[in-house]
Amino acid sequence: MQQYISQLNEAQREPVLQKEGPMIIIAGAGSGKTRVLTIRIAYLMQQGIDAFNILSLTFTNKAAREMKKRISDIVGSGEAKNLWMGTFHSVFAKILRSEAALLGYPSNFTIYDSQDSLRAISGIIKEMQLDRDVYKPKQVLGRISNFKNNLITVKAYFKDKELQEADAMSKKPRMGEIYEKYVEKCFKSGAMDFDDLLLKTNELLTRYPEVLSKYQNRFRYIMVDEYQDTNHSQYLIVRALSDKFQNICVVGDDAQSIYAFRGANINNILNFQKDYEGVKTFKLEQNYRSTRNIVEAANTIIDKNKIKLDKIVWTANEFGPKIKVHRSMTDAEEGRFVASTIFEQKMQNQLTNGQFAILYRTNAQSRAMEDALRKRDIPYRIYGGLSFYQRKEIKDVLCYLRLVINPKDEEALMRVINYPTRGIGDTTLEKLVVAANHYKRSIFEIMQNIDKIDLKLNAGTKQKLKDFVLMILSFQAIDQNHDAFYVTEHVAKKTGLIQELKKDATPEGMAKIQNIEELLNGLKDFIEGQKEIDGARGALAEFMEDVALATDLDKDTNDENRVALMTIHLAKGLEFPHVFVVGMEEDLFPSAMSMSTRSELEEERRLFYVALTRAEHQAYLTYSQSRYRWGKLTDSEPSRFIEEIDGQFLEYLTPAESNYRYNPLIDKDIFGDVDKSKMRLSKPSSGIPPKKMAPKDPKLEPSVRKLKPLAANAPSGPNLFDNNLAMGNIVLHERFGKGQIISIEGVGADKKAEIKFEVGGIKKLLLRFAKLDVI
Ligand code: ATP
Ligand code: MG
Repeated sequence: MQQYISQLNEAQREPVLQKEGPMIIIAGAGSGKTRVLTIRIAYLMQQGIDAFNILSLTFTNKAAREMKKRISDIVGSGEAKNLWMGTFHSVFAKILRSEAALLGYPSNFTIYDSQDSLRAISGIIKEMQLDRDVYKPKQVLGRISNFKNNLITVKAYFKDKELQEADAMSKKPRMGEIYEKYVEKCFKSGAMDFDDLLLKTNELLTRYPEVLSKYQNRFRYIMVDEYQDTNHSQYLIVRALSDKFQNICVVGDDAQSIYAFRGANINNILNFQKDYEGVKTFKLEQNYRSTRNIVEAANTIIDKNKIKLDKIVWTANEFGPKIKVHRSMTDAEEGRFVASTIFEQKMQNQLTNGQFAILYRTNAQSRAMEDALRKRDIPYRIYGGLSFYQRKEIKDVLCYLRLVINPKDEEALMRVINYPTRGIGDTTLEKLVVAANHYKRSIFEIMQNIDKIDLKLNAGTKQKLKDFVLMILSFQAIDQNHDAFYVTEHVAKKTGLIQELKKDATPEGMAKIQNIEELLNGLKDFIEGQKEIDGARGALAEFMEDVALATDLDKDTNDENRVALMTIHLAKGLEFPHVFVVGMEEDLFPSAMSMSTRSELEEERRLFYVALTRAEHQAYLTYSQSRYRWGKLTDSEPSRFIEEIDGQFLEYLTPAESNYRYNPLIDKDIFGDVDKSKMRLSKPSSGIPPKKMAPKDPKLEPSVRKLKPLAANAPSGPNLFDNNLAMGNIVLHERFGKGQIISIEGVGADKKAEIKFEVGGIKKLLLRFAKLDVI
């Protein structure tokens, strides 16, 4: 332990050794805040504090896992296991499960994701016969989320004239009713949405003093990372829990507060001193992450903000290379620049893909980057966006599984009751919904009692409903004695989902089956992992809890060798040796939607500060002079943020100096068999390539052609009944990358290959679906 403490600098050591009392560490990016928290927890444990009494709240579950691992390294894994660590949502979901009965919820309540919530809201808007163009479901949900995060319950809403007037003014006088119906609907379904996890925790802690007292006594030491991004609801939970012992240590950076749009309140950090008595404040000033160039450039940016705490950030690191700025004609060209720079940097400096990150303002920007990386055969991973679990075919399976756990779950039920089709039509469903509203019961309960309620359904329809109920109950019986893998496989088959997907023989259809296979693979991994955890048996409920709270950042696949693509918001707290911040254009970053007030613009600027300070060694800022936005080619100007950086820290690359064109020295060895004469023809002789030289048609672009290192007979589409594969073949899989076939079994349509992938280990794939290229 001593060794870890001695590795800290003086300013970092103080808060680690300060065992008791309220304290706040405010410091700039990369100054070791997270590291201090980690060491502090280990130190507390070493001082005899029971791990069960320590609560540490992080921004992602991945961050929590990493922290736990480091602490295990210091104090041993046996003890570290007992720490309470995770995001607000995951920690309090766990607590809510054990206290659910007090709130009238089943302990197996479902957690709705935003898709489910949107569906529920859309349903209500329809039932109320409101105009969807006025009551836009997304906006309505955003408003409701806002209410919840500020602890405005339905009752409180109807008491608050101002809120009601505000909604009336914005032509949504029936907002309150929608809110009420939504809350009822969730309750009836035994479901909580994400905001409920915090709201209900607050309700639990305020309504039940004995429960509050129990958790106050449990969590004697509380730590919160990224405190600047807590919302009001989270703030109140932390306040309540820490009220008794007041051993609360929060860390954050006001300059990195970037979630105001989701209700985060920067005042939580600014007012901390007022909230507790005798607060000790610590400042860390030395940045260990980045080069001097990056640290000082970042300082010049944040200086432009008016609302900020005074802070110094400096580093003893080397100056390092300047921040490189690159302009391109199109977003496709921007992608090519990024991909080829990564390619060349890797070659020249023996780097791995995992040392690169591409950060953008909006998810839509990932496409151009993905295209370029794929063409260069650079493995990458996208974080965020539509997560794997939200893909239609996966969500369908998951909704059946949700019904197995909680048949009251109305959104799940509505989604799959007639998919695959079983002749349960809209009229029947409407009748069920009306009955459910009338009896204040879930639809499933109505279905279970269908013979007792007169819904004017014919015998055939009734039978279909009964069959559905029986099917779910039979799955429940199986769930009693089997693990999550078995149940899921059984459900996918018996519901007819797989049969349904098999009808679609297009590559897209096959990809869907492949995704289900991937889900099953994931389940196998999960069950393996669960074996390590005390008391867990890999049951479906355990898996579903994980899925419900998984942010895409959490998936612990082996990502070492992949370039990371994510929004800047998701990159908070992370670090990478090489960082590309792409799409540095006015209206995109800063976003057109966040420029109308100073505070919005300042938040965008903080976002840029976060982006730049993720880089350890080299940062690139790229922008394009035109870009497809909303299906239209739009001209764009460089972002004001580039100009805001002091010029001494920047190096402007002209496109001619950029690396995206064919470079015979580097490319020769790898793509020795390509037609180079063509490439030389299109290579600019010197200087800045004129506009028309920007490749318009990807087919004509040399770097595209040469990057198909496929054997002559290698199929590129889905590999139907490919019999040319043999043991020992090196293959390339669209998603898993490069691997070697270690065994082949089965014949014809059932032929499977066991493949050892460089990243991700051994996988067994059905060749009928696996998109494999022999290389
Ligand atoms: P952010 O604001 O981005 O969340 P942070 O303040 O939490 O950053 P850390 O992630 O804890 O900073 O630390 C940044 C990097 O500096 C990490 O790689 C960490 O290991 C390293 N670091 C922190 N303190 C020291 C130290 N005293 N000696 C050496 N390296 C350090
Ligand atoms: Mg941190």
